[in-house]
Amino acid sequence: MIKRAVFPGSFDPITRGHENIIRRAMPLFDEIIVAVGLNIEKKSYFRVEDRIRWIREVFADSPSIKVESYTGLTVDFCRQADATFILRGLRTSADFEFERTVGQVNKKLSPVIETIFLLTTPEYTSINSSIVRDVHKNGGDVSIFIPDAVKLPKI
Ligand code: ADP
Repeated sequence: MIKRAVFPGSFDPITRGHENIIRRAMPLFDEIIVAVGLNIEKKSYFRVEDRIRWIREVFADSPSIKVESYTGLTVDFCRQADATFILRGLRTSADFEFERTVGQVNKKLSPVIETIFLLTTPEYTSINSSIVRDVHKNGGDVSIFIPDAVKLPKI
């Protein structure tokens, strides 16, 4: 059976922190679907097509990385994609508290799916998409926070 994981998130935009988690998870799974979640109640900063394109550009040389968007429950997307693992990154104890609840609820909803957590590499702990958006919105240089392949539009 193919070991397939879903890495769900907003990726608004993808950061070096996300990239690091995906690259480190590559040897663990046959395929990782980076799943860009669309939340109708939450307006994103970048368009979904751009967010998907940037992730595809970062992993252009990695055939085991697929990128898709989804709506609804992550476990339903996993079922539909035939994935039995959810991949998440942990930065802080706040991440852990949040992830524990989500992970335990997902386990109740779909007992066959296991959530796998990778700890962030220390230098990426402070990187998150909302910081990148704030710096970008205010005209700052975000290149040290995002993968080299990603070129964000100027504001
Ligand atoms: P969400 O909107 O669900 O928080 P994100 O796009 O922010 O989704 O993040 C997706 C996943 O990437 C989450 O598991 C998050 O913990 C992880 N992640 C985000 N930034 C980092 C980072 N700097 N280091 C490690 N993991 C990270």
